[in-house]
Amino acid sequence: MTMRDDETRLDGNAAAGLLDEVFRFEMTTTRTVCAGCGTVAPVGALMRYGHEMGAILRCAGCDTAIIRVARTGDRYWLDLRGTVSLRIEDGAPAPGEPAG
Ligand SMILES: [Zn+2]
Repeated sequence: MTMRDDETRLDGNAAAGLLDEVFRFEMTTTRTVCAGCGTVAPVGALMRYGHEMGAILRCAGCDTAIIRVARTGDRYWLDLRGTVSLRIEDGAPAPGEPAG
């Protein structure tokens, strides 16, 4: 890890504002499935690397870039190739799962 990595790396919760602009639901609790290693993790637990135009959210297990999001003027660029799927919670518990 370089000094630059330390300066730009936060957890995925730090990307909540930018993700809220693109997705109209709570993204930090949305579960991703890593295309690299299969780890299932909420967006908030990914490792966020920030840059001027946006953020890269990486798997904490294998460092695969799960989500890349950037904003240029009035456009958003979204690359989700690092996740097999997103599981979006609507607030209601799934059958068989405890609430919360
Ligand atoms: Zn992974």
